[in-house]
Amino acid sequence: LMVETKIKCSFCNENAVTRIGYAKLWLCKEHFIQFIEKKVFNTFKRYGLGGKNWRILAAVSGGKDSVSMLYILHKLSKDIGFELIALHIDLGIGEYSKISREVVENLCKSLGIPLIVLDLKELTGFNLPEMVSKTKRPPCSLCGLIKRYLINVAAQELKANAVALGHHLDDLIPYIIKNFVLQNLFEISKLGPKTDTLNGLVGRIRPLYEVSEDEIMLYAYLAKLPFVQNECPYSARKGLEKTIREFINNAEKRHPGFKIAFARSIAKNIEIYKNIGKEEPLKQCKICQSPSNSEICSFCKITAKVAGKPLGSEVKTKIAKIAQLHLLNLNHTSTT
Ligand code: SF4
Ligand code: ZN
Ligand code: ZN
Repeated sequence: LMVETKIKCSFCNENAVTRIGYAKLWLCKEHFIQFIEKKVFNTFKRYGLGGKNWRILAAVSGGKDSVSMLYILHKLSKDIGFELIALHIDLGIGEYSKISREVVENLCKSLGIPLIVLDLKELTGFNLPEMVSKTKRPPCSLCGLIKRYLINVAAQELKANAVALGHHLDDLIPYIIKNFVLQNLFEISKLGPKTDTLNGLVGRIRPLYEVSEDEIMLYAYLAKLPFVQNECPYSARKGLEKTIREFINNAEKRHPGFKIAFARSIAKNIEIYKNIGKEEPLKQCKICQSPSNSEICSFCKITAKVAGKPLGSEVKTKIAKIAQLHLLNLNHTSTT
């Protein structure tokens, strides 16, 4: 995406470092950074992602996407007037998790963003690789459900208005198309810029909804953000999604603006998707009272298999304590 050129920036006299096809702009470093930040600000306004006095919990893995999101949210928090708290989950995946945690801790410290780290091993007695080998489940689906559970509990205990996720256009569109092809239309309703808080599930917002992966990569690089370069050893981009990605990037090249137009059309029709093929309403887990699709939530089922007993309630109590300590600290700093 970055180019060496003698072409001038569309806004100043500097040489441009990139061209934004869909906006018909050449941009220098400074104006590119501003362009992305403004875009995220506009995304907030367009989709009502958050307002004054909101408490937003940003889930930060340490990769380029979530690190860039956190950095931009930090800048916007003053303009928009929301409170920002970062959340990192240490999954205990060897070196990868160690580096990720360090990156997030250092970044939050240097920016003065309050951070909560939830350590899977401390909370349950097992790290992700141990859970994978005990359950024989595909790592990413296991990891996904654990993260969703822990993030939701933390968001509830912190009384957050929303959880911010670092998904961008190129994460979301292939997933939307895949769900469309499979006619999992209700799933699409969860992939828009925002879901509302409902039945104990804290709402999600996606501030990078209209930003592409290339743009985030260039932003992280130009803004000199520290992020984890290593990939999680379990990560594997799956067949169909990869093919769709190639297809949409081709379409974008030939028809600049295709991706954003797609994302906006989906967002416009999100209410319709919510009502087609609707799943049964969420229940409450009998053991830990968390929102669940069945009598017992997946987290309790998984931990029962791994630890010999369901750990939902225990883990919730631990997170509640961490959250309370954190809120006390916040009050303390704001009154002294
Ligand atoms: Fe978890 Fe899979 Fe992501 Fe690794 S790649 S952090 S296992 S979801
Ligand atoms: Zn410029
Ligand atoms: Zn449960």
